[in-house]
Amino acid sequence: MPDARESRTPDFDVIVVGAGFAGLNALHSLRGAGYRVVVLDAADGVGGTWYWNRYPGARCDVVSIDYSYTFSDELYRDWSWSERYAQQPEIERYLNWVADRLDLRKDIRLGTRVVSAVYEDADATWTISTEAGDHITAPFLVAATGCLSVPSTPHFDGLDRFQGEIHHTASWPAEGVDLTGRRVAVIGTGSSGIQAIPVIAESASELTVFQRTANFSLPAGQRENDEERVRHRKASLAQWREAAWNNSAGFDFEPAALGVDDLERERAYAELDRRWGRGGFPEIVLAFDDVFKNREANEFLAEYFRSKVREIVRDPDVAELLCARDHPIGSKRVCADTRYYETFNRDNVTLIDARATPIASFDETGVLLSDGRHIELDVVVMATGFDAMTGALRRMGVVGRHGTTIDDAWASGPHTYLGIQVVSFPNLFMITGPQSPSVLNNMILGIEHHVRWITNCIDFMRRHGLRSIEPTPEAQSGWDDEVRAAASETLYPQAESWYVGANIPGKPRVFMVYVGGFDKYVRTCDAIAEEGYEGFVFDGPDGAAALSRSGIATQ
Ligand code: FAD
Ligand code: NAP
Repeated sequence: MPDARESRTPDFDVIVVGAGFAGLNALHSLRGAGYRVVVLDAADGVGGTWYWNRYPGARCDVVSIDYSYTFSDELYRDWSWSERYAQQPEIERYLNWVADRLDLRKDIRLGTRVVSAVYEDADATWTISTEAGDHITAPFLVAATGCLSVPSTPHFDGLDRFQGEIHHTASWPAEGVDLTGRRVAVIGTGSSGIQAIPVIAESASELTVFQRTANFSLPAGQRENDEERVRHRKASLAQWREAAWNNSAGFDFEPAALGVDDLERERAYAELDRRWGRGGFPEIVLAFDDVFKNREANEFLAEYFRSKVREIVRDPDVAELLCARDHPIGSKRVCADTRYYETFNRDNVTLIDARATPIASFDETGVLLSDGRHIELDVVVMATGFDAMTGALRRMGVVGRHGTTIDDAWASGPHTYLGIQVVSFPNLFMITGPQSPSVLNNMILGIEHHVRWITNCIDFMRRHGLRSIEPTPEAQSGWDDEVRAAASETLYPQAESWYVGANIPGKPRVFMVYVGGFDKYVRTCDAIAEEGYEGFVFDGPDGAAALSRSGIATQ
């Protein structure tokens, strides 16, 4: 590695934090390119999201054959999913299988939380410190720390007095929780709550659901895998990959306009009914690109969803409460459910409007509502979401050049170049960082793209004897503008969602995802690399000369 001025030999070439989809892929790629890599994860197992989120009903909402690594034909060919949308245990098994198959475990340290990461300019080295007090050094640090990896539990008065059990969906005990015959409350009706509620209702004696905001949810269309489709996909992975890399969302379908012309409404309703029966995002929400930009098309689809809720839920008051109204459909993640609305027809399920009658406090035996009602409980399930996108890095104690902390750099919301790097944090790379397409695209493809880009970048530096890379402030502020401009053409910023940080008190309200299209994003990043990393500056081997990209010939 280029380290002419360094006063100490780093322990590794690259430290990767996180052993989920991103970290495992990064380890395989960087190790394969000849680097000494270590992966650290706070969890006691690999899998990231799929290690932590063990709540009843947890499964992917993107069909499993799209929610799989595509970087290796062998891996893709040799794994078979048992269901259209795999459940958490199967996805966790898949990631463990990948770790074994690629012999990754020898370079992964589990049960290792990183509490600080400090960059030393003098020798262009990151020193990370773990909770256990160990220190590890490397010139490169890759944050594979996840967009949805820091659970958020809101403050409730008296919660610490509650004598029953409290479990967050994202830190669910590995040994499971027996809810049979118990009085359970679920707080939160986002994707996690909506998946958990139907399953919990089957075993709890009484289930009370606290809904502050109704969400849009569609039938996932869960069923056995279509074997013919799977066989075809495995045989034609290369073509699928080609189509997905060139698709605006990283899948293989092209969205069309829903069209809300008066004459077309009847046709559109019939078409939606046909698609609703099959279930899944590509059939219903992602299929119509005008829905994300055109308020009228959006409201048309939203009203279609509401009509379905009214059809399914027998009590009209409960149905109305379950109808989402406060945000355009799609501007918060649309949920994919299995018999969610049907659950509210059960005798043991009660829906509480937590906006009209918020939780006033907890006590030893249950919860007190603002209207004076007291509900006795044995178990509280917090399905209350995450400090998304920036939470993990902000908790990792990251300190860059001249003592700049990530908190300083992101005081007004995340600023990055391409969602990959941040000014003042040389040699720190993020996988699916804020301001990249990340959570609003095929995440596995997004991860694979970043891993490839980062590996190529480090290779480029090695070939040219460069010891550090960092974006220019101009490039970063240009990317800020692009992210904002792309968002402003959509309805996304109109919702009080975790995409804008609205779920975390005090978090800056900034839309944190690049929505200009996955294909366009990939082309932009790749062109920047091919042209010698426009918008980045490198330090040469002596650490003195800051070379602009024009000073370097690409190979
Ligand atoms: P993660 O899987 O979140 O892994 C990050 C890892 O970093 C974690 O294990 C964490 O412990 C570790 N870490 C973070 N900070 C530190 C630290 N300081 N020290 C040590 N370790 C640290 N996406 C989809 O596309 N389709 C889906 O169907 C889908 N379903 C989801 C379901 C749930 C319940 C959730 C929460 C998310 C879902 N997502 C889905 C998004 C999902 O997070 C990504 O698809 C993907 O799993 C992210 O992988 P990752 O490796 O980037 O991050
Ligand atoms: P979420 O979407 O942020 O939902 C959190 C829920 O908790 C919301 O209903 C929120 O209400 C509620 N809440 C928060 N604080 C509350 C309070 N003080 N009182 C009452 N209610 C409160 O979190 P999530 O459901 O965990 O999902 C997060 C993301 O993870 C998803 O958007 C998705 O990307 C991913 N995910 C995917 C799947 C899948 O289907 N594969 C499953 C789970 C998660 P408000 O809306 O009013 O704030």
